[in-house]
Amino acid sequence: MSTFVADLMASVTAKNPAEPEFHQAVLEAADAFEAVLEKRPDYRRARIVERLIEPERVVMFRVPWQDDTGDYRVNRGFRIEMNSAIGPYKGGLRFHPSVNLGILKFLAFEQVLKNSLTTLPMGGGKGGADFDPKGKSDDEVMRFCQSFMSELCRHIGPDTDVPAGDIGVGGREIGYLFGQYKRLKNEFTGVLTGKGVNWGGSLMRPEATGYGAVYFAAEMLKMRQQTLEGLTCLVSGSGNVAQYTIQKLLAFGAKPVTVSDSSGYIFDEAGITTEKLAFLMDLKNVRRERIEAYAAEYPSAVFVPVDAAAACNPLWDHQAHCAFPSATQNEINGTDAANLLRNGVFVVSEGANMPTNLDGVRQFLDAGILYGPGKAANAGGVATSGLEMSQNSVRMGWSWEEVDARLHTIMRNIHRNCYDTADAYGAPGNYVMGANIAGFLKVGDAMLDQGLV
Ligand code: NAP
Repeated sequence: MSTFVADLMASVTAKNPAEPEFHQAVLEAADAFEAVLEKRPDYRRARIVERLIEPERVVMFRVPWQDDTGDYRVNRGFRIEMNSAIGPYKGGLRFHPSVNLGILKFLAFEQVLKNSLTTLPMGGGKGGADFDPKGKSDDEVMRFCQSFMSELCRHIGPDTDVPAGDIGVGGREIGYLFGQYKRLKNEFTGVLTGKGVNWGGSLMRPEATGYGAVYFAAEMLKMRQQTLEGLTCLVSGSGNVAQYTIQKLLAFGAKPVTVSDSSGYIFDEAGITTEKLAFLMDLKNVRRERIEAYAAEYPSAVFVPVDAAAACNPLWDHQAHCAFPSATQNEINGTDAANLLRNGVFVVSEGANMPTNLDGVRQFLDAGILYGPGKAANAGGVATSGLEMSQNSVRMGWSWEEVDARLHTIMRNIHRNCYDTADAYGAPGNYVMGANIAGFLKVGDAMLDQGLV
């Protein structure tokens, strides 16, 4: 570790104690920051890195709500407004019991660099609550969302901060949140993205993150004159990102064989087909049941429950060519990464945010596989949110084909930008360096232009 990185991390850990995910996200980008500072003394003088890792604003608030039995409940809500140098804060809301300040700060920090890569004018933010929508009735979810928005509405707006969905926040939650915002503000604006298509949402927004991660993998493969056709793919998660990753993999002739949730995973050696995907979507989006039901429906699949004491995740220990982690942070540790490499995986495209820990990242980079880090590979979701904002601003809706074409072009451009930047900085093929440097430069230049704010 260089002196610069050691000093930076000492300061980050001292100032942000008990936030290991935030430390990890900064450390992952620290080499890239150092490479830029070596060429750009003006960044050093203006303390661009120090300012980038300090949120512009953090809002933390009580979310009281009433459950169906009449009991009062209290959760904690957050919004991290990380950086607005290139546009309004933009980033998802996560509802999950694990949510805390450090996790949201890591997500907001990565969002700043990711949004910069999309080529669209969006700053970075993230928010959410330690609320678990699983097992709650629709009415309970609605009451929670209304209470959450009653406070959040003071801090957001179509030109200030535009949240979207993330884990635990899908179309249902965005609907309730939007309804409450509109009621309180008496305004129908594009204050949230991921809205329903008949009330301001963009076609393709639900599909965009998963499709984008597959487009990114296809672009990486193209550099080696290869395609996804016939490749076996491991996918984790079974939510929004996983579902549409599988859908696009099938369209490209690949063979997805796994999906998971927090209770375990299924391995379907025969492959997850379009028909099985439809079953999975109904299971997860309508019936809201656990993944084991897939194996009960399809005898070609086996269900493996989570073993909390295990040192690694057996999902990543199958013969395959590609991996699309699409569940959550740090779902691939060093052992998992070694298993993936041993099993022949040579493409990793991250639909989830920071799904690979630092040991795993190092192994992927050392092995020279095609490794697309989340901030580049999953940027299609926020890019399409940016397209939704544009459509809302002009009060128009673009066709499916138009949005898909724009998404595809954006993913190609992100890939090219990461690839070329890595090359220019002496790290050919290293998409981690490429993504962090390219994302950083655009934001850093804007911060310089705007003075000490
Ligand atoms: P989602 O629809 O809520 O699905 C999340 C999936 O991951 C579920 O299958 C969930 O299982 C599983 N999961 C979540 N936390 C887990 C944990 N701690 N351990 C094991 N499994 C867990 O969320 P999503 O929108 O697909 O998001 C998935 C990932 O993609 C996240 O990292 C998110 O930040 C990232 N991402 C999402 C978008 C987007 O547009 N939605 C954009 C960029 C990046 P359970 O249901 O059992 O919890």
